[in-house]
Amino acid sequence: MIIVLKPRTTEENILRVENMVRARGLETHTVRGEELTIIGCIGDTVRVDPRLFEVDKSVEKVMHVQEPYKLANRAFHPEDTIVDVAGVKVGGDHMALIAGPCSVESEEQVIEIAKAAKESGANMLRGGAFKPRTSPYSFQGMGLAGLDILCKAREVTGLPIVTELMSAEYLDLFDEKVDLIQIGARNMQNFDLLKQLGKTKKPILLKRGLNATYEEWIMSAEYIMSSGNPNVILCERGVRTFESYTRNTLDLQAIPVIRRLSHLPIIVDPSHAGGKWWLVEPMSKAAVAAGADGLMIEVHNNPECALCDGGQSLKPAKYDTLLKEIRQIAEVVGKKM
Ligand code: PEP
Ligand code: MN
Repeated sequence: MIIVLKPRTTEENILRVENMVRARGLETHTVRGEELTIIGCIGDTVRVDPRLFEVDKSVEKVMHVQEPYKLANRAFHPEDTIVDVAGVKVGGDHMALIAGPCSVESEEQVIEIAKAAKESGANMLRGGAFKPRTSPYSFQGMGLAGLDILCKAREVTGLPIVTELMSAEYLDLFDEKVDLIQIGARNMQNFDLLKQLGKTKKPILLKRGLNATYEEWIMSAEYIMSSGNPNVILCERGVRTFESYTRNTLDLQAIPVIRRLSHLPIIVDPSHAGGKWWLVEPMSKAAVAAGADGLMIEVHNNPECALCDGGQSLKPAKYDTLLKEIRQIAEVVGKKM
């Protein structure tokens, strides 16, 4: 953090601001120019609110030179984090291949899709039991009954299960039953919920908020990590732009940017990004080529009749072809599949 003082600040005031900084546990390194004096603050600046100094009568402005996150920061943890989801590794040269319906609709549906996806090479099963729908009149998910169906599908296929937690009310239950707890785009900045996630050591799949910046997204990961759970996987799922032809716009740049800023794994959900099934294949390929640590794809055995997101779901046969093609791209970028 750098504090720029107002022109012609007196020695007395320079000393006073330096003392304020030191009182916060930081060291100071002051440079006196002819017009301007700047105070470099050295130490754990992440915990210091710059507004404390901004309001001071002698201070012109305060600039952060370091990111406001620490635990998620690549600078403090140069090697890639590899998250273990019930034995399936995510990050490094491992690929998470998560597939399944948007929503759990019935036991037959989920088990049929899970078996087919596993056959194709998927290593995790997704399915929403609690659904964050825009309309209160849309299907809201099967709730706890849906969760039991996912557990059954895990029993049958051995695939770890991924499902969305919308309320801390069910955290204990999810901790007991779910292998990878998804926090959806709409809850990315539900800070109370994020803080509660420190109570579990279960891995968290943190989706990017609809219009969250990289820094806001990483700060949400920081919330989870600082509350005691280091097992976070980030998921790019498209952001809102002016374009309305597609549901969202897939931000492929998120992959190299997150990789540079953070050591956490990053996967891509091309289904919710484009909102169209035929965009899933090209965007999945692009995501893997750009270095994604995995893909979360909606797969449905009867998309025409799906209760949610049928139009963006792949049929199992299409998913199968996609994974075959992706295998070659993964090899080129040094990922195991
Ligand atoms: C989902 O994956 O089921 C979902 C609702 O996604 P998002 O939170 O990214 O909209
Ligand atoms: Mn969906």
